[in-house]
This record gives sequence, C-alpha cells and structure tokens, in this order.
Amino acid sequence: MSDRVAIIGGGHNGLVAAALLARSGREVVVLEARGDLGGLASTREVIPGHRVDLGHHDLGMFRRSLIDELELVRHGLELIEAPAVASVPAVGDSGAVVLWPEPGRTADGLAAFGSRDAAAWPRFVAELAARAAALEPLLCRPAELADMGRLLIAPELLRFMSAPLEELLGEWFETRALAAGLCGLALPATALGPRANGTGWPLLYHCALGAAERLAPVVRARGGAAGLTGALAASAGASGAVLRTGAVVARILVNERRAGGVQLADGERIEAGAVISTATPAATFLDLIGAPQLEPRFVRRLQAVKYRGTSARLALSLDDLPRFRGLERPALTGRIVLARDPDDIERAADAAKYGRLPERPWMEAALPTALDPPLAPAGRHLLLATAHHLPFHVEGGWASAGPELLDRMLTELEGWAPGVRGRIREHALLLPADYESQYRATGGGLHHGEMNPGQSLWLRPTARAWAGEPLPVEGLWLGGAGCHPGGGLTGLPGRTAAVSLLRG
Ligand SMILES: Cc1cc2nc3c(=O)[nH]c(=O)nc-3n(C[C@H](O)[C@H](O)[C@H](O)COP(=O)(O)OP(=O)(O)OC[C@H]3O[C@@H](n4cnc5c(N)ncnc54)[C@H](O)[C@@H]3O)c2cc1C
Repeated sequence: MSDRVAIIGGGHNGLVAAALLARSGREVVVLEARGDLGGLASTREVIPGHRVDLGHHDLGMFRRSLIDELELVRHGLELIEAPAVASVPAVGDSGAVVLWPEPGRTADGLAAFGSRDAAAWPRFVAELAARAAALEPLLCRPAELADMGRLLIAPELLRFMSAPLEELLGEWFETRALAAGLCGLALPATALGPRANGTGWPLLYHCALGAAERLAPVVRARGGAAGLTGALAASAGASGAVLRTGAVVARILVNERRAGGVQLADGERIEAGAVISTATPAATFLDLIGAPQLEPRFVRRLQAVKYRGTSARLALSLDDLPRFRGLERPALTGRIVLARDPDDIERAADAAKYGRLPERPWMEAALPTALDPPLAPAGRHLLLATAHHLPFHVEGGWASAGPELLDRMLTELEGWAPGVRGRIREHALLLPADYESQYRATGGGLHHGEMNPGQSLWLRPTARAWAGEPLPVEGLWLGGAGCHPGGGLTGLPGRTAAVSLLRG
C-alpha cells in the first residue's frame, strides 16, 4: 500500500493537515480545484490594487498551538489584534454600543444605557467563559462518546446550547442594541434567527475557541486571510508536501470499502494509502464516492444535512474611512454589527425562509484597512459588508435579486454611516450562489453544514460519521469544516484528521 496521503482541498484545513503530516514524515499531496489556495479564507484582488478577503478573516479562533508547531511566524504569519471586539453604531435614540476585550471597559460604556446592564456585563462574560472552558476540550479532540456523558451532567451548558439566543440574552440585558451586537457575533452564516432554539450554540462555540474571558477578540493576519494560508502553505511546502492547484478531484478510488487514492477530472490517477477530504460531506460521499457504494441509511442522513448558504459579501473601496454614528476610530477595528435589535435579524431570517430578500438586510461590517492600511492603495479604505440570513434560492433568481440586494445594502449602510455612498469608488459583490459555484461550498453553506446543535459534536456531519472515527470507507478521513468541530478559521478539523490518521 502506498505511504502517500492525498488531501482533497487546499483551504486552511487541508493545509493544516498537509503541514502536520509532512512534518511527521508522510508523503503528502494536496489537490486544490481552484487556481489558488485558501478556499473560503482567500484574499483576492477583486478590486484592482485591493487585497480583499472573500470569506472569513478573523483568526481569533485559530489554535495558537498550531502557530507554534507549524512555525507559522517564521513562515510569514503576522498577527494583529483589534482593540475592539464588536460594536453597534448609534441609531435613532439609541447610543452606540462597543464591546471591548476588557469587561470593565465595556461595562463603563454600558453605563450610558443604565446601571443594570453595566453591572450584568462582567458577570455575563465570566459565566460565558466558564461554559466555554467546559466545552473547549471537547472541540479540540475527536468527539468521543465519553464526552457525551460530561455534557449531559452540565445542565447550564446544555441549556446554553439548546435555548434561543434572544431568550438567553434577555435574562441578562435590557439594551436591545447590546443583544443585537451579541447576536451579530454568533449568527453569521446560519439560517436561524435569534428566536430559534439552538442559537446559543454558535455564540458558545465562537467563545470556546476564542478566549471567552475576553469575549473572543478579533485577530487579523497582516495581508488578509492569505497571510495565514500563505504561511500554512509555506510550512507544508518546507516539510515536503506537494501543493497542486487546478487539480479537480473527480473520484475517490474505493476498492472493497478501502480508499486507494483519487482520480482527477483530467483522468490522472493518484494512488494513496490514505485520503483526507476537506470537501463538504455531501461532495465527498455523494459526488466523489457515490451513493451506490454506501449504506442507504448513511446516504439518507447525508442528504438531510442542512447547508443553507445565507451570506453575501460586498467589498467597497472608499476614498476615506466611513463615519459610523457614535463610533470613534478604535471601535472601528472590530466587527461592526448593523442591526438595531435582534428583531432585525429575526425578520431577515423570516423573509429568507420564504425565499425573499429582507426589506432591511442586517449586516456585519469590517474595515480591514483600519488595522492594515496597505490592503488598499494610498488614499483608499476597504469596507467589507456581509449580509446574512439571505435565501440561497431567492424568488426570481439572483440575476435580478443581486442588484436589488446591492441597492438595499447600500441604503442600509447610508443609514448607519451617513455620506458613505458618496465615498464609494469601486465595488465587488459575492452572492450566496457564488460561494457554491466558485468555492464548491455545497448550497453556499460557509461552514460546510450549518452550525446548529443538531449538526455538531457527535452529529457532525451525521450521527454516523465524526472526525477521528472510521468512516464507512477505510483509509478515508474528513478534515474540513463539515466535520467536528465545525466552521471558522480554527484549523481544528484538519488537525484532528491528521492526528487521527497518524495514530492509525
Ligand atoms: C463571507 C464569509 C463569512 C464567514 N464568516 C464566518 C464567521 O463569521 N465565523 C466563522 O466561524 N466562519 C465564517 N466563515 C466560514 C469559514 O471561512 C469557513 O468555515 C472555513 O474557511 C472553512 O475552511 P475549510 O478549509 O474547512 O474549507 P474551504 O475553505 O471551503 O476549503 C475547501 C477547499 O476544497 C476545495 N475542493 C472542494 N472540492 C474539491 C475537489 N473535488 N477537488 C479539489 N478541490 C476541491 C475547494 O475549492 C476549497 O478550496 C465565513 C466564510 C465566508 C465566505
């Protein structure tokens, strides 16, 4: 049997797996369909002269142990921590809310809304951090059945995982803009509104992997997400991994339920003793292996996985930083949540359920040039506005809905940052359907499967298959966001797959 490991996909998880395996002396080949590496964590010049992150660009959840083990700093990674975690600009009678990594500083600002929320804030962060600390170890190793017992005897943790986020927050806070800011941290790239059960889970996940006692600070790589994926590729390459782009895997070769390599779309066969797939679970099993080779029950469960692409990213080149109402420059460095209260998000989710665009899209905005000016040419700034809770299958199709969405996003932005429309020099817009057609994200799902409790831990991607455990095909591991522990720039699915493979 070949000693080679074939890794499908050169997103950050595929690169983490490649770098770890190559350092352990395995022969590794990464096969990436696109012309560049990085997957959903790509930085591209979609506006000439501007380095635009098309997907996630917050490294706050990326494992520090991987940075050390893979010597990513030596390979070019430079981290910049944002002074602010999140903010909601002022609107109408409501003042701006700014969430800082220091609980006391946030509480001081909340005092303007009344003493109750200011007093509650440090206690809330401490409680969130306690729940997150209990969860973190479970996310950093294969989902073991023994851990299930640990969760079941932690009722407060279970409640946080299963209850509606709005209800959980309502027990602590009166200020609606504050609740909106926390919902804006938790609910990007899901179809669930804050009144849906299970929406506490993504907040907990985000905090468990991102220094919860400081509310998961925003950390960026200099040069955009490509600063991370470039360092990962350099680390993997230095250890001997072969990284091939433009290599579309058409089939995983399976013989008597054992993976023996892959076949590319141009017919080339690559033999391998093991295969790690970071393509989505649907693509891995239903497209690259095929339902006839799998148990019908497993196939039905795979078909039931919810992907639900819900996000569109608008990149704007501005001739100056926008002036969001009530926010000073340091507050512009974190996530800027453009929702007045959780109902804005709930209404968007309601519209999306029926295939409609929200009347008033809620957005998460970022100003990458506030932290890293060279991402845009001198005299320009980048504003990335991501609308979430959009319908993947939109009424009338995206050809007509796309321009309408653009107009609604710009109208909303103007309300939050008066004058911003006049500062726009160039723009680029990526729609939910583009993430499927350009990045092979099934159904446009940016986490390769929605991050809800029914698709997490032992249930990710389905009750049968979890990271680190044998799949129905021997010698095959899942290593992308679609498996345990899930989405975001954590490197954990790739790491878990590599470690499990090495353990045999
Ligand atoms: C706009 C946007 C906003 C986001 N916001 C957040 C957020 O707020 N919080 C959060 O946690 N996460 C967020 N994410 C999600 C996060 O970026 C992803 O979960 C993460 O990047 C997934 O990494 P990955 O390596 O598992 O998969 P990917 O980056 O998708 O990499 C998989 C790679 O496999 C390749 N591939 C697939 N099939 C084949 C094939 N047959 N042959 C060869 N190659 C193949 C693909 O081309 C791709 O490059 C966001 C993403 C986007 C796009």
